[in-house]
This record gives sequence, structure tokens and C-alpha cells, in this order.
Amino acid sequence: MSQYQAPLQDMHFNLFDLWQVQDFWQSQPQLAETLDQETASAILEEAAKITAETIAPKAASADAEGVTYSNGVVTTPAHYKEIYQLQCEGGWTGLSGDPEYGGMGMPKTLSSLYEEMMCSADIAFSLYAGLTSGACVALLQHADEATKSFYLPKLYSGEWSGTMCLTEAHAGSDLGIMRTQAVPATDGSYRITGSKIFITAGEHDLTDNIIHLVLAKLPDAPAGSRGISLFLVPKFLPDANGNPGERNQLVCGSVEHKMGIHGSATCVMNFDGATGYLIGEPHKGLACMFTMMNYERLAMGSQGLGAAERAYQNALAYAKDRLQGRTETRDANKADPIIQHPDVRRMLLNIKSINEAGRSFSVYVAHQLDKAKFAGDEKAQGIANLLTPVTKAFMTDRGFDACVTAQQVFGGHGYIKEWGMEQLVRDVRIAQIYEGTNGIQALDFTLRKVAADKGQALQWLFADLLATTDLTANAALAELAQQFQTLTQQLLNRAAQEPQLLATVACDYLDLAGYVLYGFMWQKTLSVLDENKHAASFVQSKQHTAQYYFDRVMPKAQSLLAVLKAPVAQMNEMPVELF
Ligand SMILES: Cc1cc2nc3c(=O)[nH]c(=O)nc-3n(C[C@H](O)[C@H](O)[C@H](O)COP(=O)(O)OP(=O)(O)OC[C@H]3O[C@@H](n4cnc5c(N)ncnc54)[C@H](O)[C@@H]3O)c2cc1C
Repeated sequence: MSQYQAPLQDMHFNLFDLWQVQDFWQSQPQLAETLDQETASAILEEAAKITAETIAPKAASADAEGVTYSNGVVTTPAHYKEIYQLQCEGGWTGLSGDPEYGGMGMPKTLSSLYEEMMCSADIAFSLYAGLTSGACVALLQHADEATKSFYLPKLYSGEWSGTMCLTEAHAGSDLGIMRTQAVPATDGSYRITGSKIFITAGEHDLTDNIIHLVLAKLPDAPAGSRGISLFLVPKFLPDANGNPGERNQLVCGSVEHKMGIHGSATCVMNFDGATGYLIGEPHKGLACMFTMMNYERLAMGSQGLGAAERAYQNALAYAKDRLQGRTETRDANKADPIIQHPDVRRMLLNIKSINEAGRSFSVYVAHQLDKAKFAGDEKAQGIANLLTPVTKAFMTDRGFDACVTAQQVFGGHGYIKEWGMEQLVRDVRIAQIYEGTNGIQALDFTLRKVAADKGQALQWLFADLLATTDLTANAALAELAQQFQTLTQQLLNRAAQEPQLLATVACDYLDLAGYVLYGFMWQKTLSVLDENKHAASFVQSKQHTAQYYFDRVMPKAQSLLAVLKAPVAQMNEMPVELF
């Protein structure tokens, strides 16, 4: 079985030394009174305890057991009720929720690290509360006061859970062609009819009520994505006392049998004239839902990192223990630990150098969100919007790579269930697909985030990074940052003549951005390491890993630069029948 300990030392380092978020917390009236370094450390330690001791050890049994479906009822793995209760008692679902409605008001920098730990422990379980937190973000921003004060306290406490119902069988990436209908009723509510597929936590036995956020079209809706509205559709219509009352006209038709995250219920949800309440303005539902999806997309990055962290910890332990081949010993009857082989070290350092940069990047993005939320910093919001698709796609792609590489460290044993490595590979794979595939993320980044504002947010990002990172000691990174900015300008210029160009190069462009940004993360890390403050082993480990990144990972950016400058004609001109 795979083990897990939360990387608390690195988490503290990222918060308090690298990004020094405590200074920001103290400058914000909403945070200064309730949050200091000591409180934050206590919160992280508690999260580390629950995830490592209670949730992580049972992830394998949740995988083996999975969810079961019978006649509209979904049963989760046996121990999920107990750990869900524990999560509710700790108030973890509302960790960064609004205190006015019962949330704990903590910054995203803290909750993103909590999310990472949860995903290391059990991605499938993390989704039940994860979807609820996302639903709360959408309601907080778009619902009216009565809806917020009624629903948010029950969602933040975990008493009720939330879902996100977008996908239909024929409408996945292209939501504009969805068919679910919402017809106005005389009492101001709506009747929702349609079938949604792949709905995470659509039905389960962990809460008394489930609050579905459903996208549907009003009868007079304009065609396409501009005609989609958002509705709140409870499984049980709450009575006047706020208790789950009459059963609404919706049912789970089946659950999917899938590659991984077996403990997560992925449901077909059939709405048959179900009562729903409009959230936000008619036809503006997609924008409202994007509030939720953007929150979820950052959490997706944590899924990639969380799985990769657990994979690394186990691969490292195995590599120190497993004896195969000879490097130092000359005794034909003995073997050395495989960590002595250069290729095994390559695998471990590839994972470690990406994981640790990923954690720094994730805290950086979360800090931008906090600056936007608490201090109204518009540039920070622009940077967070720009980086949301990078966080989702780059961190989940690298997270999957890391899990596969860690599985490789185990040799044949990595393919065998009892070591837990194949589960990590299966579980993390979905993070590259849902919440908008990584291909769609790349389009979002390149077309909507970079090209649509003519590189403005990108300039803010580089201004921020260059102001806080000294590149004089790192000519390679300084040159790469320059190359990236020059290439961006060239692509934007070429795009005016070549309409397909940006869509064609989007994935490679997003990857390039990721490798550049991780370079900044490592350079900034080197600049704050302090032998008087940090253990010598911590400092040396960071220094070795940073150098490995610069020598052997970052050069991948040069091949991406070459690809991005290469002709795209074959991709777009080859007739379909010749594929
Ligand atoms: C386990 C699981 C849980 C899920 N949870 C939820 C949930 O809670 N709520 C919910 O609403 N949905 C959920 N989904 C659905 C998920 O978000 C979609 O599967 C995903 O967005 C992709 O849609 P699709 O499967 O229809 O693929 P398609 O849209 O058919 O895409 C197929 C391929 O074509 C590519 N493609 C499509 N359009 C374009 C384009 N314009 N340009 C370039 N490439 C394109 C895609 O990148 C992909 O590679 C879940 C799915 C799974 C498997």
C-alpha cells in the first residue's frame, strides 16, 4: 500500500519564506485579526494529520470497493461516511468560505495547500467537498441575498453538498449546443428537463441533500453559449425550516464504470420537470458557471500535484530499499539500492524538480487570487485569470507524467495493485480531461487569455516576476524569458495572417509557458534559501534540485521553441481522408 506524509516543511517554506504571504495577511483587515503564521501552521498541521492518518491509508480500499448503484440510490465506500463527518466537524469544506455565511474566511494560499493534501490522500473522496466549495464560490458571487443566506451555511458546513451539471451526451466541450430546458413556472421558479451525464457527486449517501447547479436554456434563449442560464436545483426542496422536504423531480439514472477515482460517483442525472431557481441573469449562466469552473480548475492543479507528491514519496522510499544491480559493491551475490543508478536518479529528480516548482507556482497563483479578493488588486486578478488554464493543464499533465515515472521506478511491482502506484496513475488521469480538457485549456490560454488582450496580462505577469526575481545569476533563464516574450509577439503578429495558427500551437505554447514559469519558481527559491533559517539538508536539497531543473528539465523549452516556430501547414492542410 502506498504511504503519504504531508510535505509540511516545503509548504511552510512556500508560504512564509518564498511568497511571504504573512505580510499580506497582516495588511488586510479581514485577515489580520484571525490569521497569523502560527494559526496557519496549526491549520496545516491538523490537515496533515487527518489526510495522512485517516484518509490516505484507506484510499486503496475505496478504490477496490468503488460506488454502487441500485434503483437511483448510490452508495459510497464504507468508510467515506466517517471521514466525511470528520471533514464536516473540522469545517474544512468552508475553509476559504465567506465568514458572513459560516465560512472560515481563510485565504486561498492556505486552502490550496489543504486541497493538495486531500488529493494526495484520496482524489476520489476529495471531490465531494471540492465540488461543494466550487458551488459556494458561484453562489456567493451570483446568487441573491436570500439564496446565499439560506444555502451557503449548509454547504460550507458540509451538511449539504453541491454539484456542477454542465455536460450532456452530445455537449461536452461545446456547451452551446446543450438541450436541457428551463420553463418558467407561475411562482417564479422554473421547471428543468433534460439529461446530464458525468456528474460528479450527482447522487451519494454522504449528505441529507444535494444542491445541483444546472445549466439549461430558457424558451427564448439565443442560440449557442450566449443562451445558457444557471439554475439551483435541490434534490429535496427545502421546507420552511430549511430541512430537506419534498423530493424534487430528478433522479440518478446510473453511475459510470471508469478507469480510476472509483470512490467518486460519476452520475447520469435525469431532470424531469424538476423545480429550479434562476441564479444570476437569464442567458448569463455560462459566465456564472465559469466562476465555479475557474475555482475548480485551480483545484485540478492540486490534483496533479497531490498525486505526484504521493507518487514521489513512495518511489523514493522504494528506490532506497530495492536492491538490484551493482554500482559500488563488487560482490556478485549482493546488489545495491536502485537509487544508486543514474537512470533511477533521473526519474526521481524529474519528479522532484517539477513537483516542488509546481507547489511554488500553485501558491503564487493562489496568492494572486487572494490579492484580488482581499485587496481588490486588478492586476493580480488579471494574472490569476491568465494562469488558471496553465495551472489546470500544465500541473495535471506533469502530475500524470510524474505518477507514470514513479510507477516506472517500481519496475514490475509498479504494475501490481498492492503497491498503490497503478491507482495513482489511474486516479490522476482524469484531471487532464475533466473541467475542460487540457486541449481546451490551451486554447483558452492562448486565444482568450494572451491574444484577446494583446498580451497585457502576460506583461503584468512578467513585470511581477521580474520585480521579485533576480535573473542576473541565471543567464539561461533570462534568455528563455526573453525568447518566450519575443515568440509571443511573433505569434500574435503571424496570427493576423494565419487564422488557424494560435489554435494549432496552443498546447505547445502553454507547455512552454509552464517550463518558463517553473524556471522563475526555482530561481526565486534559490534567492530566499537561508542556512541560518533552514536546515542544511533542506537548503542543499533545494540547491541540487534547482540546478537539475536548470540543467536537464528547462532545456525542453528550447525544443518547444523550435516546434512553435515550425510550419503548421501539414496539420491544417492534410485532408481528413488521408489520416
Ligand atoms: C469522471 C468524470 C467526471 C466528470 N465530472 C463532471 C461534472 O461534475 N460535471 C460536468 O458537467 N461534467 C463532468 N465531466 C465531463 C467532462 O468535463 C467532459 O468529459 C470534458 O469536458 C470533455 O467533454 P467530452 O467528454 O464531451 O469530450 P469532447 O468535447 O467530445 O472532446 C473530445 C476531444 O476533442 C477535443 N476537442 C473538443 N472540442 C474542441 C475544440 N473546439 N478545439 C480543440 N479540441 C477540441 C477535446 O479536447 C478532446 O480531446 C466529467 C467527466 C468524467 C469522465
